[in-house]
Amino acid sequence: ACLENDISGTDNKGFKGHDMLAPFTAGWQSTDVDPLIIEKSEGSHVYDMQGRKYIDTLAGLWCTALGGNEPRLVDAATKQLNTLPFYHSFWNRTTKPSLDLAKELLDMFTAKKMAKAFFTNSGSEANDTQVKLVWYYNNALGRPNKKKFIARAKAYHGSTLISASLTGLPALHQNFDLPAPFVLHTDCPHYWRYHLPGETEEEFSTRLAKNLEDLILKEGPETIAAFIAEPVMGAGGVIPPPATYFDKIQAVVKKYDILFIADEVICAFGRLGTMFGSDMYNIKPDLVTLAKALSSAYMPIGAVLVSPEVSDVIHSQSNKLGSFSHGFTYSGHPVACAVALEAIKIYKERNMVERVNRISPKFQEGLKAFSDSPIIGEIRGLGLILATEFANNKSPNDPFPPEWGVGAYFGAQCQKNGMLVRVAGDTIMMSPPFVVTPEELDELIRIYGKALRETE
Ligand code: PLP
Repeated sequence: ACLENDISGTDNKGFKGHDMLAPFTAGWQSTDVDPLIIEKSEGSHVYDMQGRKYIDTLAGLWCTALGGNEPRLVDAATKQLNTLPFYHSFWNRTTKPSLDLAKELLDMFTAKKMAKAFFTNSGSEANDTQVKLVWYYNNALGRPNKKKFIARAKAYHGSTLISASLTGLPALHQNFDLPAPFVLHTDCPHYWRYHLPGETEEEFSTRLAKNLEDLILKEGPETIAAFIAEPVMGAGGVIPPPATYFDKIQAVVKKYDILFIADEVICAFGRLGTMFGSDMYNIKPDLVTLAKALSSAYMPIGAVLVSPEVSDVIHSQSNKLGSFSHGFTYSGHPVACAVALEAIKIYKERNMVERVNRISPKFQEGLKAFSDSPIIGEIRGLGLILATEFANNKSPNDPFPPEWGVGAYFGAQCQKNGMLVRVAGDTIMMSPPFVVTPEELDELIRIYGKALRETE
């Protein structure tokens, strides 16, 4: 139930949610739960069928970075649709927008040199692609046993069979016979929740790195292919890493010749106040996953960036192994690529990273000022991403009884007052568009405060 949002709309003029098998939605079989139907978007706001206006604090699903009505993205799509709505990228045939976007992404990602970009339609497909790339790489190197993946508890990497296996949330595993046996999970790096009495953040990171190393040694380093992590965990509850965490984790994976995959689906393009999450935490990944803000969500697209060390092996061995027989009809879709190119152009022209840094203190400090509330355990985040976790006595060990539905109640009060938030149990998540204005942040903070008072 942790991924379900219990808030539903009403009075939808006869439109019923139960005709659709809706993703991550409880009670899809019932006929008495109407969905909230969103009809229009404008800047950081969306409107429902009744014309009610909401500030959309999650930017769709952490993705509409340029807000709801950026005309340049619409023009880029229209122009491409009028020229070449589709051609594929198989068998050495391709299109100009996909080649241009690949070059742009390789130039932009500077935390570590990247050599190739592979396109998908989503973050889930991109993470499935990561697993297949890593397996192909180890087969090419003659290491058929080096195939296991280590992900982290509470990670979110998608919902296809493989990406859901990498995800560390029970709701994505139970009833689906997952995770797949080649996926192992190590600790969630949530300091507030999991640190031992008296343990500093650095000591906590040291302990987690040691636990990772113990897991690798127990399984046998020759069986572990890759480690995957979001720089800041998103859907698992917005969990920034504790101090020195990624330095220590990277040292361990490097020691055992394990590839590091940075899942930047939420963190990339400025959300944390750096162009990529890898820049923020000095991560030197071998592989990178992108999606969401890549096109500001105006078209579905995901990407995998591959370092020269990995891509050279794949290229040099592909005659022996046969072609890299993996891809999707819409890999490198020209309209999606044209929109992504325009989104990136806008991020650069408008200095979006600098804008996030300018505006995020208001967001972070404005909301963290509510930390003293007796029902709030922790407010955490950086840049334009933040979570509030409700707890009794400010303690991670004293949650409110789930049947009280504190988080769901707070979410419902937000909605009633004109604001949409992401509710997961008693954790409330927000990641507003990069273009959110100071006035919109005032509105967001005001509604948050009102909903909090109504919940206390
Ligand atoms: N990786 C991360 C970090 C995500 O947050 C998500 C989606 O929220 C995904 C992967 C999966 O992306 P998609 O929903 O586009 O398949």
